[in-house]
Amino acid sequence: MNERPKTLHRPVDLIDAGLVPPEQLAALGDVAARYAVAITPAMTELIDTNDAADPIARQFVPGAAELDRHAEESDDPIGDDAHSPIEGIVHRYPDRVLLKPVHVCAAYCRFCFRRERVGPGVASTLSDAALDAALGYIAAHREIWEVILTGGDPLVLSARRLKALVERLAAIDHVAVIRVHTRVPCVAPERITRALVRALKANGKATYVVLHANHPRELTAAACAACARIIDAGIPMLSQTVLLRGVNDDAETLGALMRALVESRVKPYYLHHGDLAPGTAHLRTGIHAGRDLMRALRGRYSGLCQPTYVLDIPGGAGKVPIGPSYVSSAGREDGRCEVEDPAGGRHAYPVGVKSA
Ligand code: SF4
Repeated sequence: MNERPKTLHRPVDLIDAGLVPPEQLAALGDVAARYAVAITPAMTELIDTNDAADPIARQFVPGAAELDRHAEESDDPIGDDAHSPIEGIVHRYPDRVLLKPVHVCAAYCRFCFRRERVGPGVASTLSDAALDAALGYIAAHREIWEVILTGGDPLVLSARRLKALVERLAAIDHVAVIRVHTRVPCVAPERITRALVRALKANGKATYVVLHANHPRELTAAACAACARIIDAGIPMLSQTVLLRGVNDDAETLGALMRALVESRVKPYYLHHGDLAPGTAHLRTGIHAGRDLMRALRGRYSGLCQPTYVLDIPGGAGKVPIGPSYVSSAGREDGRCEVEDPAGGRHAYPVGVKSA
């Protein structure tokens, strides 16, 4: 009988699977001692071991470059800690909070912005007492309209635990929207069972699932079927993508990813500029390159395929769109601005009346 494929965690497992050459064992040991490693069977199958630059491998197979820490990098690159009033909660914006019930993921991304906070080295879930306190915080703050379940990856929870959590959130009157951030439909699509999907639904509340996907090959038949199970149950899906060097930093790949998402009924939402997480410089691009890619998408692909390019400002100042901008009034004194069309042509347009 064939053994069921397993998630790979240890450097020696990666070598046995042909994902890295044996001479890298010592270096990988150092990386794995520092940062969590997990490559699910779905992702192992996708990796082309004959391609040294395989974009799936770049996302999940650890490498010695992760031990190079740059001065601008931070253990908490988006400043979660500055906005965490209580364990498990990040309250950065008035109308919404992050709730982090779990600190583990099905697969660990080498560019993870919470890489110092996730993995088997930390407590895998919030304790019952901490979860009670986090839910108490949400209940006490009537301005909280939306709760974003993140982590870690909340869809590694069992259907039973997820259902219990969603029911407790749904019981809070002022919480209208429950949003779930996950990579599971791509990296472990078999986990998206009917029971798990049912657990996400709450009477009288809107649930959204936001899929993290970075390369069109991640949208396998199994991943698309997992998304369809969620969407067919009445749960809308959006996506978020991290702009990654050597993975999706060319217009063809990024456009193909956005199209694959839209074809799967997943609306592209955010394209994240890579956060300054430790040991991730080799995977980051420049902001100008990101803006050029967004221009290329705007010119060539349907409006449905346009995510918003965003940067989380270090220190916790928040997330903002970083362009490109198509409007400029620099150098003009005639009450007009210049609007750039998708092909690069420039057009004068009246700025209009200033609002009071
Ligand atoms: S799924 Fe999200 S939290 Fe988990 S390793 Fe990837 S980026 Fe980090």
